This record gives sequence, structure tokens and C-alpha cells, in this order.
Amino acid sequence: SETLLELQDLKKHFPIKAGLMQKTVGHIKAVDGINLKVKKGETLGIVGESGCGKSTVGRTIIRLYEPTDGKIIFNGKDISHLSESDLRRDVRKNIQMIFQDPFASLNPRKTLRSIIREPLDTHHLYKNKERDQHVESLLEKVGLNASFINRYPHEFSGGQRQRIGIARTLALNPELIIADEAVSALDVSIQAQIINLMEDLQEEFGLTYIFISHDLSVVRHISDRVGVMYLGKMMELASKADLYSEPLHPYTQALLSAVPVPRKKGAMKRERIILKGELPSPSNPPKGCVFHTRCPAAFDLCRQVDPEFKEVKNNHFVACHLYT
Ligand code: SF4
Ligand code: MG
Repeated sequence: SETLLELQDLKKHFPIKAGLMQKTVGHIKAVDGINLKVKKGETLGIVGESGCGKSTVGRTIIRLYEPTDGKIIFNGKDISHLSESDLRRDVRKNIQMIFQDPFASLNPRKTLRSIIREPLDTHHLYKNKERDQHVESLLEKVGLNASFINRYPHEFSGGQRQRIGIARTLALNPELIIADEAVSALDVSIQAQIINLMEDLQEEFGLTYIFISHDLSVVRHISDRVGVMYLGKMMELASKADLYSEPLHPYTQALLSAVPVPRKKGAMKRERIILKGELPSPSNPPKGCVFHTRCPAAFDLCRQVDPEFKEVKNNHFVACHLYT
């Protein structure tokens, strides 16, 4: 199906400044060369440990950051270096983000009416009465009561606040929604409700999701395909079924070995793989394969040459010399 978003060798490096003159003494390579395509209507999960760059990928796609290098192609158009006014006209409406903390992202002094209509005002959409009707219908779409329109965020639970956040995200009728740890702060039962809601809304509005999380079980639940990041790079990308049943990259294998999986009787028990060493700093990533300092399968070549991210099976991409 049609490609909605493409990242071509996307990089985002942040300068490290030091001293009185605030000279740049190095760079944090938060995102260091990501290639992927997101298809219209799919959910692409991105997993990885804290600090792997997955949030920076999301924030760079919505152009909170300008990429250091590489391209972001959205709907066939290169948006990598558009100015704020061009972004506002062509892009901001179509790509929205849901953040982890619904408490922090909602202004406590504003009613749901003004919180949800704010993006409509910014983009000059709807007149007074229609705007309220639109806000009420958005509240109903996310499973809240239309009469809540005059109430304040503190009157609601964490799960309800995330619903409010989603309603606000939907107000501009976006094509792509990037959810960054959107359910991580919620209880497990509430997580399931929010994910089910997101799936229903995806169907109703034809939405495309990028679902970013450190939680492999949550990502498994919602995603069609899953990408695994480590130190700013994509290690593996495959359909959910392939990735979880037949992980190829040693890092993915280690991550999955730590997740308890319901097993059929007689099935092989998965051995827990403990990674040696610490996560290296993204300001000084290892040469060659960035995972080689912790990889149980590393060999000479891994210390010298950065493996190419390539398709080794049908739609199954891996960056690892074991598969070249
Ligand atoms: Fe391990 Fe080498 Fe593969 Fe990197 S390239 S994941 S170090 S085997
Ligand atoms: Mg993060």
C-alpha cells in the first residue's frame, strides 16, 4: 500500500557545549541514520531502551527539531528543512503527537472546551457554535461525555486525561499520529482501554500511527510492524509476527528473552540473555557495529565495520554481520 512517511538516513545530533564560551566540544548522536517507510493506515511500533533515540525520532518527524542530516518525506514532500510558516501551512495539521504525561500536557486553568479548541483556533477552523459542536463530538469519539466540555483537567483520572489528549490530537483531523510512551504512565487495565480506543479511532479515521514505547508487550499488542532501536540506529524491523517469533538481531533476541511470554505446553523455554556491560554514551558510540561491546555473538568484523541495515528476508530488515 501507499507510503505516507519515509525517513532517509535521518540524523539528529545535539551539540554538547562547554566552558565559558560555550564552545561545541562534541555531539550527542541521538538519531544516527534511520531508514524506514511507514505505510498509510498501519501502526509502526518503535521499541528500545531509554536513551536509544526513539523519542528524538518522533520529535524530529513532527519537526520540533530540524534534522542534522537526511530526509523526512511526508506524503511525497520533503519536509526536512521547511520553515515554521511552511510547516504550519502544510504539515502541522497532518502530523500530531501524543505524549506520555497527560497531566503535564493539559493546562490546569483551562476547560476542556478551550483545551481542545486551541488547535482549531490556531488554524482558524470552525466558527463559534460549530466549534463547540466539534469539541463535543470529539469528546464523544474518545468515550467521554459531551457535557464535560465545561470541566477542568484535574476533575479527571489519568486514563480520562489521556482521552482528552487524544481528542485534542484528533481535532485537526491528522493523517499521522505519533504516540510517545502514550500509555506508559497508566495502569495495565487502563492501558488496554486506551489502546483499544486508539485502534477504534484508527479504523474510523483511517489514521496511521507510530507507536513509540520501551514496553515490548504493549508494542506487540498494537503494532503491525515493529522496529528496534539501539544507540540512535535501527537494529531490526519486521512484521510483528516475524519479529516476535523469529528475532534475528542479537539485541532483539536479548530484549525479547527478558519478556515473559505465555507458552504452549511442551514449547521450548526461552533462555534469558543477559547483556554484558553498560549502554555506551551516544556522544561516543562504539566504532563498527554500535552493539559490539555488548553483543554475545560479536566477532572481528563487528569491531571494524558498521553493518548495513538491509532486507535479509521478505520485509525483514536487520543490521548485523551475521546475515551478510
Ligand atoms: Fe553482534 Fe556483530 Fe551482529 Fe553487531 S554485527 S549485532 S556485534 S554479531
Ligand atoms: Mg523517550
